Amino acid sequence: MVIKMTECELLSKCGFFKKHQSNKESACKGFIAMYCKGTKMEACKRKIYRKENGVAPSDDMLPTGHMMKA
Ligand code: SF4
Repeated sequence: MVIKMTECELLSKCGFFKKHQSNKESACKGFIAMYCKGTKMEACKRKIYRKENGVAPSDDMLPTGHMMKA
């Protein structure tokens, strides 16, 4: 049986999520809905980065791999 995850397992330790979860910007909300709590979580570049490098990326790196503009 395949158990479908509804939330990314890194949610509680992800700097991006922690920092931006209450961000009112629709783009940010969209990323969270799409990646952190959506169907694209396995494609999250932050997750891939963490797997490849063994450390978390900058909190301002988006799930797409782009950097957030300050
Ligand atoms: S940004 Fe990526 S690693 Fe972080 S909680 Fe969302 S899906 Fe998971």
